[in-house]
Amino acid sequence: KRQEKIRNFCIIAHIDHGKSTLADRLIEATGTLTKREMEDQVLDTMELEKERGITIKSQAVRLVYSDSKGDEYILNLIDTPGHVDFNYEVSRSLAACEGAILVVDATQGIQAQTLANCYLALDHNLEIVPVINKIDLQSARPDEVKKEIEDIIGLDCSDAPLISAKVGIGIEEVLKAVIEKIPAPDGYIEGPLKALIFDSIYDPYKGVVCYVRIKDGTVKKGTRIKLMMTGKEYEVTEVGIFRPSFMEVNELKAGDVGYITASIKNVRDARVGDTITEAERMAKEPLPGYRPAVPMVYSGFYPADSSKYEELKEALEKLQLNDAALTFEPETSVALGFGFRCGFLGLLHMEIVQERLEREYNLDLVTTAPSVIYKIILTNGNVIELTNPTNMPSPTEIDYMQEPIVNASIICPNDFVGAVMELCQGRRGTFKNMEYLETTRVMLHYEMPLNEIIYDFFDALKSRTKGYASLDYEFSGYKKSELVKLDILLNGDIVDALSQIVPEERAYYRGRAIAEKLKEVIPRQQFEIPIQAAIGSKIIARETIKALRKDVLAKCYGGDISRKKKLLEKQKEGKKRMKQIGTVEVPQEAFMSVLKVE
Ligand code: GDP
Ligand code: MG
Repeated sequence: KRQEKIRNFCIIAHIDHGKSTLADRLIEATGTLTKREMEDQVLDTMELEKERGITIKSQAVRLVYSDSKGDEYILNLIDTPGHVDFNYEVSRSLAACEGAILVVDATQGIQAQTLANCYLALDHNLEIVPVINKIDLQSARPDEVKKEIEDIIGLDCSDAPLISAKVGIGIEEVLKAVIEKIPAPDGYIEGPLKALIFDSIYDPYKGVVCYVRIKDGTVKKGTRIKLMMTGKEYEVTEVGIFRPSFMEVNELKAGDVGYITASIKNVRDARVGDTITEAERMAKEPLPGYRPAVPMVYSGFYPADSSKYEELKEALEKLQLNDAALTFEPETSVALGFGFRCGFLGLLHMEIVQERLEREYNLDLVTTAPSVIYKIILTNGNVIELTNPTNMPSPTEIDYMQEPIVNASIICPNDFVGAVMELCQGRRGTFKNMEYLETTRVMLHYEMPLNEIIYDFFDALKSRTKGYASLDYEFSGYKKSELVKLDILLNGDIVDALSQIVPEERAYYRGRAIAEKLKEVIPRQQFEIPIQAAIGSKIIARETIKALRKDVLAKCYGGDISRKKKLLEKQKEGKKRMKQIGTVEVPQEAFMSVLKVE
């Protein structure tokens, strides 16, 4: 039976096309929040999300809309994260909806993630409502963009609302289109209960809060529930809806979007994608599509001050309460001491965790260059999954190695095709094909090692295309590859935290570039410091940091006072992040600088 007065939908878009701004306008137009409660981008709640202007976690809100006939509708809007790192969460949010508003920037047209998200939505059989945004801008070309959407995606755009989410034009039309075009949810209210968890957060008062879409059945306080993947049982302590803050209600039933709490202690026990059913009357099968989020990128996190190890551990545990995709285990480094090897969905995820640890938990961290997971097939037939380059077995034990590969799609104006191809080739990309989107833009498909994307690829792409290219990629599998471990020696000692796995063909070049870079970032000290790059016992590059000359120091004294102050200030700042390695002081910068060499 259909719930005629409910619509469940999400908004999908390429980053910065105006998804969050449109969500704000919809919330405002339906009077869900008063003007005073209304802040820009209310759905982006985390401080970091606001600052970076990106949506990290998905969020949900219930809107009540009365149409011109006075009929009241419940609109459940689910905001989705807009970054490839969080694609799995996007996919789960989509599975909770019947339709999606596709926002396309009228000045930019279709971009890589417009397509990626759109295809994801089509995979989930969602009804897609195209909306052209930013028509207030001079450079807007709504008619061309409409045609682009029709030609490339094949959606009818003849009555697509032309809107400005910022100025508030066309918002009513969007609401009308949602009611008219997106199907009402259906399902068996009689049960048995089937609820999809599309997000879960840890709330200090309520414990784990599961964001759910009820597909079949009903659930209320006291219901005994079972999570189908973990098999664990709980008693429901509260059910409610999002206004957008939590509001308790008596029950949730088929078609509804809301939340369930049940004294669940950890978000790992209520994983996104799992199905909640009744313990006494279990659903036969879970909802489709569950897969645990797996880390793709690893990095060592060490406290700059080694006495802060326990604090770092506690902070990671706390973050993990709310982030099922974050993994960590203790590791020791000769150079850096005690720390943790942490696993992340991608680089953005890693940066977010790092920033939160530093900001919310006041920790100074030394982090090592991120690494992908390499598969090493040993001569004895065993397979190792290598997440820390230091642990690479000796070459004599290795039969061969494999590295993760992604399918990358890049959209850019014609003029930049050459530059993009050159970049991709330089990053060991294999050209697949190229499609014309219109007469002026193309989409290139490459197969590329994930490792190359981690090495600053996105920035390089942006700078070579004056910011016009957009990128999307997805993991496609493992491939055999010729790789070696590149070690860096300072003062004759290997610094394990600087070791990396590199393609054999690039080893010499990389080794030289890293040695040069380190020479720049490591400050001079009282003695001469040799920097060497080595593969096994073979030295492939060498640089020397000259000793500090006494007269350099002397010059600072008696000289310009403000310059001296600046120098001291700089020193103090540097000190904070210096790590004593053997006899050499190395700044945090050095550990990441190995990433920045082209
Ligand atoms: P999201 O990444 O898709 O969530 O995009 P946001 O909603 O955060 O918007 C990205 C930027 O575009 C922000 O600076 C918005 O103020 C701006 N923006 C959004 N909608 C409009 C619009 O209709 N007109 C103009 N001129 N700017 C807009
Ligand atoms: Mg946003």
